[in-house]
Amino acid sequence: MTISFDNTYARDLDGMYLPFAGAKAPEPSLLWLNEPVAQALGLDAEALRSPEGLAMLTGGAMPEGASPLAMAYAGHQFGGFSAQLGDGRAMLVGEVLDRDGARRDIHLKGSGRTPFSRGGDGKAVLGPVLREVLIGEAMHGLGIPTTRALSAVATGETVWREGPEKGAVLARVASSHLRVGTFQFFYARQEIARLRRLADYAIRRHDPDLIDQPDRYIAFLQRVIDRQAALVAQWLAVGFVHGVMNTDNMTISGETIDYGPCAFIDAYDPAAVFSSIDHQGRYAYANQPALARWNLARLAESLLPLIAENPEDALPLVQPIIEAAEGRFAVERRKRFAAKLGAAEADDALIDGFLAMLTAQGADFTGAFRALATLVRGDEEPLRALIGADPRLDAWVQDWAVKRTATAAEMDAVNPLYIPRNHRVEEALAAANAGDLGPMQRLLTVFADPFTAKPGYEDLETPAPADAGEYVTYCGT
Ligand code: AMP
Ligand code: MG
Repeated sequence: MTISFDNTYARDLDGMYLPFAGAKAPEPSLLWLNEPVAQALGLDAEALRSPEGLAMLTGGAMPEGASPLAMAYAGHQFGGFSAQLGDGRAMLVGEVLDRDGARRDIHLKGSGRTPFSRGGDGKAVLGPVLREVLIGEAMHGLGIPTTRALSAVATGETVWREGPEKGAVLARVASSHLRVGTFQFFYARQEIARLRRLADYAIRRHDPDLIDQPDRYIAFLQRVIDRQAALVAQWLAVGFVHGVMNTDNMTISGETIDYGPCAFIDAYDPAAVFSSIDHQGRYAYANQPALARWNLARLAESLLPLIAENPEDALPLVQPIIEAAEGRFAVERRKRFAAKLGAAEADDALIDGFLAMLTAQGADFTGAFRALATLVRGDEEPLRALIGADPRLDAWVQDWAVKRTATAAEMDAVNPLYIPRNHRVEEALAAANAGDLGPMQRLLTVFADPFTAKPGYEDLETPAPADAGEYVTYCGT
């Protein structure tokens, strides 16, 4: 198998990773291959399916030109700082330029113990690996920046979690794996020369137009803020709760990364939390902008030594940017929700008025926005069924009718019909664990174009039945 790697991370950032060889999977068997992604990367799908391909996709043996390594990073996890996290069960295989000339990391998760594993086994298991496949593809279909799975391969090994599980390795593709936590790693150690090398690398990779600017680190910070503001607004607009927005799970690129305990809301609830370990609701649905800004403040802090020799001189330059971030996040959110309502102007009263009714009625978030377009088409029944009991509805609809400028079709194009409904995802994963990938394929079919109704897939539109109980997600995947 020949792959044209071009491994800038390995070449330019020595001292920021450890070379690493993955574990050999005893009996690798392909669960799923993302052919469009393989094609976009210029990889031959048949070669990936071969024993040599599966060895690469599980980390056991690398093709020529790969630069297998484990990245160093730190991170604030639920507010507490760990100075050393790093790829504990992951590795970078290498970088390739895709068909559009964009640089992409090929990265594995579950490829065995690394020097960063601490007490962990370095493994991943089938359910969470396929969950990452599903949610990543869904996010991509929804038009939300995300890492994407290239493949999921079962290793033929038993991995112990609560009980015995099937071992699996995810191969994912990202525009980079640079995180807020990567910067924190070197800042915490006060390794300023490395920090500068890392920042210049990140700028060359993600914001190359800034590289010659004398104030490039501040400009870079602003770019990362802008990307995250846009990203989190997109999460909110589809009801996505990331669940573990630690600084090591926040990218510089603005792509969503690490689908662990994430979930989508059915009934609209700003306080929605799904993760079993998020007792304080730190990463609740509506807290995500504030938490993202908190993380970005950690990035700003880490960049201070590059912005001025003396932190006191850097602070006044950075502080206004961090303070303005709140406004940026709010603007992005308003823009997304105005579009969902088909309104040309972002209007807080209109947006919050609608969401207040959804909250009060416990109405399905995704269904309610679709029902608005149905109302535009002349059928008010679906909206009435969801929030008809709310005394504010008629007045709101009158106000909205004046402010709405989009057509029903335009509204449908920004309001998905299909999202990864938690109960459907669980069903698909249970089936996959039992050897039947059919339900997962069905989900992937609608996720590829979630805005368009697909006959025969109506069951995937609706929320979990009322008696389904509370949905809880778990870390430790
Ligand atoms: P995550 O929660 O997946 O973002 O991971 C947080 C940190 O824990 C990262 O440094 C991971 O590499 C590490 N980690 C998670 N699971 C394992 C595992 N099974 N073995 C070793 N390290 C792990
Ligand atoms: Mg992570």
